[in-house]
Amino acid sequence: MVYDLIIVGGGPGGATAAMIAAEKGSKVLLLEAGKEGRYKCCAGGIPVTNEEFTPIPHGVGEREMTGGVIVTPKSGPMNFDTTEKKDKGFCMFRTDFDKYLVDIACNAGAEVTYGFRAKSFEFKSGVVVVKGPQDLRCKCVILATGLGGARLQRSLGMEVPPMINGIQAEFAIPESAITGQFGNRVWEFFDRTISEHGIAWAFPKREAVSIGVLGRGIKIRDFKSFLRYPFIKDKIEGREMKVFGCHKIWAAPIPDKLIAKPYRDRVMIIGDACGTADPILYEGIYQARLSGKLAAEIFCKAYEEEDFGENSLSRYHNLLLMHLYEEELRYSYKIHTLLYHSGLLEKIINAAYSMAQEDPEMMQAMIAMFTRSKTRKKIWKIMLSRKRKLIKHLGISSSLHLIPALFRALRI
Ligand SMILES: Cc1cc2nc3c(=O)[nH]c(=O)nc-3n(C[C@H](O)[C@H](O)[C@H](O)COP(=O)(O)OP(=O)(O)OC[C@H]3O[C@@H](n4cnc5c(N)ncnc54)[C@H](O)[C@@H]3O)c2cc1C
Repeated sequence: MVYDLIIVGGGPGGATAAMIAAEKGSKVLLLEAGKEGRYKCCAGGIPVTNEEFTPIPHGVGEREMTGGVIVTPKSGPMNFDTTEKKDKGFCMFRTDFDKYLVDIACNAGAEVTYGFRAKSFEFKSGVVVVKGPQDLRCKCVILATGLGGARLQRSLGMEVPPMINGIQAEFAIPESAITGQFGNRVWEFFDRTISEHGIAWAFPKREAVSIGVLGRGIKIRDFKSFLRYPFIKDKIEGREMKVFGCHKIWAAPIPDKLIAKPYRDRVMIIGDACGTADPILYEGIYQARLSGKLAAEIFCKAYEEEDFGENSLSRYHNLLLMHLYEEELRYSYKIHTLLYHSGLLEKIINAAYSMAQEDPEMMQAMIAMFTRSKTRKKIWKIMLSRKRKLIKHLGISSSLHLIPALFRALRI
């Protein structure tokens, strides 16, 4: 039996690609190394833009988010509220969300095998053999292995994206206490005393809150010291961390940058494996799904043309550059440089929030940073058009400090 398409990795990227290719009538097999319902270390915040691909039913989207809280060392909680539907989002457990997406792919006609870890590939006259617990054959492969498939990627002669690490735990807290203490808000902390990178979060779900920190070379002790941080310590006092797969505290990487060439003959790489995550707030579910959709569409074209060669699949890369890089990631990298490589992270956040108090368009841009209701390109333009005001808010000495990062950001 030769499948038309084998997708390796049953996260949001792989499941979305499987759904789309199966809907078009292809013989699709989705392989997932983990067991059904595996835990995935993720804060689980998704903007409503995810409904571009599938609805998010009540129960899967465990808590609807209607605002956010930004914390820096100088300014206490800075709140924002989202009133429009396009600015809403959800916080959920990836166990439920990923299973929901895989079930949709199944209903669309894809076959799914859990507990299958692909070990290597062999390219033989017109087919790819996916080797694992058994040999499976297909015409084309989509690699959606997140950052767990680095060895596989390298064995294909393909690049692995650079990455940064997150450490996180889920605290069990009764629903009413979460509503009272965190509200339906995502909490983001910007403070370089937490970690060199300076970003941490508390994302409330229905009966649990994901609390985590992120940074290159981040240590458990950084995470533990964040648990004593103001606005966190009191809220989790006496609360237990939930246990998943024998662990209370989990660590996982997030990619920092797109790889240069996410295709070769008969193979396309999507999602985290391709480096699609957004390095401002480090979210990657939407982007993984978008890349999955684009790769599945190109697979369908290549199938009709019976051409899975490198040239044919390079059209996936073109679409990725057009829809994800040019509108989003190109500007995310600029904003990333300004925030995380200027030495002024907290000051820029404070200045932007204080400008937003009297400038509705700036407030909308700040909200959109969390909710994706505007593209990163649009947010960058709004910020640039106010650079004089920003410099005034930052003060002369800070602004001089900003110049190298500004030049680097403008060059990208
Ligand atoms: C601490 C942390 C917090 C985060 N918070 C958010 C957030 O709030 N919002 C957001 O949007 N993003 C968040 N992210 C990022 C998000 O988790 C990823 O961007 C997203 O999961 C990428 O989806 P994916 O489908 O590409 O890969 P994954 O979700 O990683 O899925 C890959 C799948 O492939 C499987 N696999 C790996 N190797 C093999 C193999 N050889 N054979 C078969 N299967 C294999 C894995 O078991 C896994 O299920 C967070 C990440 C971290 C680490």
